[in-house]
Amino acid sequence: MSPFQSPLVDAYRRRTQKSARLAEQAARVLPSGVTHDSRYLQPHGIYVDRAAGSRKWDVDGNEYVDYAGGHGALLLGHNHPRVIEAVQKQLAKGTHFGACHELEVRWAQWVQRLVPSAERVRFTSSGTEATLLALRLARAFTGKPKIVRFTGHFHGWHDHMAFGVSSHFDGTATPGVLDEIAQGVLLVDPGNLTTLRDLLAGRDDVAAVIVEPTGGSWGQTPLSKEFIAGLAEVTSARRVLLIFDEVISGFRCSPGGAQTAYGVTPDMTTLAKILAGGFPGGALGGRKEIMDALDHAASAAAGREKISHHGTFNANPISAAAGIATLQIVAETDACQRANDYAARLREGLAGVLRDERIPWVVYGSFSGFHIYTNPEGRAVSVADIESGKLDYRALKAVSRDLITKLRLGMLVNGVEIFSWPGGPTSAVHTDDDLALTLEAFRRTLRTLREEGDIPV
Ligand code: PMP
Repeated sequence: MSPFQSPLVDAYRRRTQKSARLAEQAARVLPSGVTHDSRYLQPHGIYVDRAAGSRKWDVDGNEYVDYAGGHGALLLGHNHPRVIEAVQKQLAKGTHFGACHELEVRWAQWVQRLVPSAERVRFTSSGTEATLLALRLARAFTGKPKIVRFTGHFHGWHDHMAFGVSSHFDGTATPGVLDEIAQGVLLVDPGNLTTLRDLLAGRDDVAAVIVEPTGGSWGQTPLSKEFIAGLAEVTSARRVLLIFDEVISGFRCSPGGAQTAYGVTPDMTTLAKILAGGFPGGALGGRKEIMDALDHAASAAAGREKISHHGTFNANPISAAAGIATLQIVAETDACQRANDYAARLREGLAGVLRDERIPWVVYGSFSGFHIYTNPEGRAVSVADIESGKLDYRALKAVSRDLITKLRLGMLVNGVEIFSWPGGPTSAVHTDDDLALTLEAFRRTLRTLREEGDIPV
């Protein structure tokens, strides 16, 4: 039977009829009816009407505890009053001046203050643009052509990053990407410093290593603090630049991101999401001598051709206003800690439900994130096996998408939206009620999946 013909899916369809109608219209104008691949859900996704704090409501009036979290941007939840006030104030003054403005200076100062590696900052409009700029600067600064990436790590969707994340683990280009670009990127298995050390020892053409410091796809394939410390040693010994992609972990793991939490300062850092407080925005921060490649006077003084960088909406006043308000709250309150604590309780609670229901799935994650490994072969697997890398990205990503779809639908029917990994980021505003509701939704969903034969009895 198709996974989309079942009482659970029927219940979902009954609850989301207006969403279904919008999805039909969407399919006639948007490929797959969506604007971001992670939002693709069969038979259709929910269409959200409004949100507040940790909750959101769809066009059919259903309420959900939200673990999509604006793809990780909403550490402070939806519509934090101070963020909204700052944005409204700025809206009344203007949305784009096509000129320098005070807010971009204040925003960059917050980044500089919070992120240890950000001696200088350049804003972009997204995380994808930030990682693109980081690679270009790394090559220009070192004069070397190659970039090392870890297999399974996600750094946005530009050509250098389009393979080896959930497919093409052999490093071959995905359709539309030039082979030459794919060949300029060397994929290394994550978690193993020896492989990296050997690779770097044998060649002198590597400009930089880029890494998601808490592990690939927001810790879906975790990395340890010790690995990150070792990585910094290996790269600096080989005079290879180290780039932390902190698009998700920045201002989340701690106010200074994973680099502060781990006490390891990279040469450059890419940022987005929380940076812009729920509005579009990204940034590259880095050592002054590297960032000088973007500086007119410094480039001229060094006799180097400056790297050009544009972007209509870079540091636009609305994103800047939201970003400043958000970073101030992150700096001055325990927002990161609250989100981390909630995630720890959530992981523990979800694992408890799995134990009660005798289902051999594993819930894991670090900081304010959780992942559910659906353990397709039902092997004896522990959190420690996952955290130690015993199960690598191939195993962790080779799960049944149909089962995950049904898990997500079941959670939605029970009032919870989880992200597609499956799992999600938590926020500083998730409550005890949210936790109780989530655990109950998980229990009910698992029982339904078992009844429908999706999980062995
Ligand atoms: N790097 C990481 C680690 C990310 O998680 C993402 C987005 N999920 C990106 C880069 C790309 O950011 P954006 O979606 O803003 O382009």
